[in-house]
Amino acid sequence: MADEADATFVIDACRFAENAAFVGAREAEFADADVAEIAREQLSYADAITMSGKKDALTNVGGFVACRDDDLFERCKERAILYEGFPTYGGLAGRDLEAMAVGLREAVERRYVTDRLEGVAALGRRLVEAGVPVYQPFGGHAVYVDAGRFLPQVDAEAFPGQSLVCECYLEGAVRAVELGSFAFPDTDRPELVRLALPRRSYGLEHIEHVADTVAAVHERRADVPGMAVVSEPPTPELRHFQAELAPSEPMSRFGET
Ligand SMILES: *Cc1c(COP(=O)(O)O)cnc(C)c1O
Repeated sequence: MADEADATFVIDACRFAENAAFVGAREAEFADADVAEIAREQLSYADAITMSGKKDALTNVGGFVACRDDDLFERCKERAILYEGFPTYGGLAGRDLEAMAVGLREAVERRYVTDRLEGVAALGRRLVEAGVPVYQPFGGHAVYVDAGRFLPQVDAEAFPGQSLVCECYLEGAVRAVELGSFAFPDTDRPELVRLALPRRSYGLEHIEHVADTVAAVHERRADVPGMAVVSEPPTPELRHFQAELAPSEPMSRFGET
């Protein structure tokens, strides 16, 4: 399609290993292929990729752009020198580049990536068992809860996703993120809350704690209040990152906050 439209095809490759593992798990043609082989084929169709190192490169920071076209590369290189650092390091410390070189290989090891996908699916299954409305099939990095169905008494104007996020933190110190009508106003997307799992951080007991926490909030969902905006930044695009909200009634568990 991109060729027909004479468009540059850029892949956001930050989850390339999880996506390749899903192709291997779900498409018969690729059942016997290595995760790396699948990823190589997928990325081979792109003119360029952007990659966040913090995702499937298993690093703490950084990322990169890779492209086929020499002219595009030269243009990217100029911007890198102006805004990031020389092309050989792109503003990153050598330590982080070395971690990325190792991480990119480890991310496509089947044992690693399968363990990750299974951790996310284990969280999803536990939430389904507890009756929590979740988006299916589960993703590779996160389980998405439908806060609109979870808290039907909270109107969209009172941001059910934000309510759920705050209640999960109060209940069990679980940090999630609202990705519904607060993050994306003026769309009709569902009121999603993302429970993303950091890579190589959590074992099954942590996952059980997260599921138990969300299930405990679900048990007392009828008492969960909506939220109201207390302050927001002048730049509307930054509302999701910088606004301050407060419960429209005292939060159920801690009373006045
Ligand atoms: C995290 C993420 C980014 C941004 O990467 P940073 O390294 O955090 O700037 C871009 N695209 C997708 C799909 C991501 O998940």
